[in-house]
Amino acid sequence: VKNVKKFFPFKKGWFRSKQFVKAVDGVSFSIKEGETFGLVGESGCGKSTTGRMIMNLIQPTEGEVWFNGINLTELSPEQLRKKRRDFQMVFQDPYASLNPRLKVSDIIQEPMVIHGIKKEERIHRISELLETVGLHSEYADRYPHEFSGGQRQRIGIARALALNPKLIVADEPVSALDVSIQSQVVNLLQDLQDEFGLTYLFIAHDLSVIEHISHRIGVMYLGKLVEVANKDSLYEKPLHPYTQALISAVPIPNPRLKRERIVLKGDIPSPANPPSGCPFHTRCPKAFNRCKIEVPIMKKVYPDHVVACHLYD
Ligand code: SF4
Ligand code: MG
Repeated sequence: VKNVKKFFPFKKGWFRSKQFVKAVDGVSFSIKEGETFGLVGESGCGKSTTGRMIMNLIQPTEGEVWFNGINLTELSPEQLRKKRRDFQMVFQDPYASLNPRLKVSDIIQEPMVIHGIKKEERIHRISELLETVGLHSEYADRYPHEFSGGQRQRIGIARALALNPKLIVADEPVSALDVSIQSQVVNLLQDLQDEFGLTYLFIAHDLSVIEHISHRIGVMYLGKLVEVANKDSLYEKPLHPYTQALISAVPIPNPRLKRERIVLKGDIPSPANPPSGCPFHTRCPKAFNRCKIEVPIMKKVYPDHVVACHLYD
């Protein structure tokens, strides 16, 4: 992902002047084959928009998305349609993302129909996929409302797996589920990764879930990536003051390990009118003069650990 930006236009004020919400403002990172890259941040930070640009569901205003050496942003619609089978998406809400009028079998085979897979093969594949995600193959003839949230998300995962994708973008796939069900779905995703060599972009706001599933993690704030590191490095020595605050708020079962909680003041500024300099300076407990003026750029502090913060110059 190379310097992608997504600006949504809107009109404002008496003169209806055109302005932009900078939903994603210059994000770069790469995901290695077979890993889970966790993208974390509060709601509205641009993580879903980033995921949708990678999936080509929305076009970046600027920047490029490369997949296995191919610049997806340059493909014609027809070329992109063929490539699409390599990357699939699992959505947040397992209630809204499954069409209530379609049987489970129709939901799962939809991507196979689009890609012209023959009927006999599809029928065989539907039962195989249901079993792969831990559901009975007899469920194929039922409708989504007959299932619990966790089961529906398994159906969504089966649909995503239908074409043997290489990359799955999972946007908050467990946030809508009961806590007791969340770990089952996360464990399923991990098992599937081992079995099929899948690569995941896993988007979430919950740092415990992100820690559990990710190999590497990117932290977003106000449309920008502020820190990227491998999991252990990020949780053991978070560098960005925003990451430090997020991690300090994670409940830790062993109270002796509890870090002092850093409570951030103020609200997230509007992405229509982001602060000058470092986007975090209005809330950062360590901000100094330079932070208001100069945008910090990413720099490497440890191996596989970069941060955008003036404290590390
Ligand atoms: Fe805080 Fe300054 Fe670092 Fe931004 S650059 S996170 S305001 S210390
Ligand atoms: Mg979102």
